Amino acid sequence: MCPTIVRMYTVFAGGVGASRFLQGLVQAVDPAEVTVISNTGDDVEMFGLHVSPDTDIVLYALAGIVNPETGWGIAGDTFAVVDALQRFGYGRWFNLGDRDLAMAIHRTRLVHEGVPMHRIVAGLAEAFDLRTKVLPMSNQPVRTQIAGPDGVIPFQDYMVRLRTEVEVREVTFDGVGAAHPAPGVIEAITDARGVILAPSNPFVSIGPILAVPGIRDALEGTSAVRAAISPIIAGQVVKGPAAKMLATLGHEVSAVGVAKLYRGLVDLMVIDEQDRDLAPQVEALGMRCFVTDTMMTSPERKAALAADVVAAMAVA
Ligand code: GDP
Repeated sequence: MCPTIVRMYTVFAGGVGASRFLQGLVQAVDPAEVTVISNTGDDVEMFGLHVSPDTDIVLYALAGIVNPETGWGIAGDTFAVVDALQRFGYGRWFNLGDRDLAMAIHRTRLVHEGVPMHRIVAGLAEAFDLRTKVLPMSNQPVRTQIAGPDGVIPFQDYMVRLRTEVEVREVTFDGVGAAHPAPGVIEAITDARGVILAPSNPFVSIGPILAVPGIRDALEGTSAVRAAISPIIAGQVVKGPAAKMLATLGHEVSAVGVAKLYRGLVDLMVIDEQDRDLAPQVEALGMRCFVTDTMMTSPERKAALAADVVAAMAVA
């Protein structure tokens, strides 16, 4: 008889910040004990192909092939196809490597055949021999939109084409009203021993996952220990627009600002040593605060952070 695998940790994940943490977590615990719920709000149609940037970053990171310099894409990938596409008038703003494109071609074919996204992602994880389970947040399309001074634009236009040079006034999720959690997502939240919100952008990486009807309720109601790691350190991001978004959306640009967004959703907030002074303010929100080095600058630091978080959750 096959032993049942108890998946103890479920991680809500965006892209770069989440994948760094996941690389540590699968060193700190058995990768087979980890389930990832991946943000698909970033998904985009590019060159007629369905691209899932966050999910693919997670898959590449867990497979050990993610480009360590950029945090996305495949290490050593080439860009011959996007270069060649320019002859036919395609823009070059969305950089998709040749091997990355292979993934998109395969995923698109399966989407056109009507295969649900959770099956597609499971197949991709299998192709990379991953023991960690990766679940898209939903099988239905949800598209993150950014409202700025000049109107509403799709997320990748904001993030990649306009390089986040837009004042974000609102973040919305097209299609979310008709979306359901993908099969396995609710169980992964209710049956886990611990649920971790990765150090991802709270608005455009964790936000879309929480917006899928049923997921926030499951997180509020689970008996799992729930933790979040602040992506904001000393009032700044390591990378990306989270700090700018906190400011323009009217929040405090600090780990406390992040903790306030997660009030009622987490039992434990993990903040960086540089923010040690903020711990009392975080605890005043009704959550435990754990202070540690959260800068994931090396494989060792990633593993140490994950081990610290797991240990802190065990006593939460
Ligand atoms: P994206 O979808 O690719 O933008 O990735 P995420 O939303 O998962 O991650 C972006 C967030 O990760 C940013 O707000 C960063 O500040 C955060 N981040 C990246 N590296 C680190 C790190 O080493 N430590 C911490 N605490 N946060 C990080």
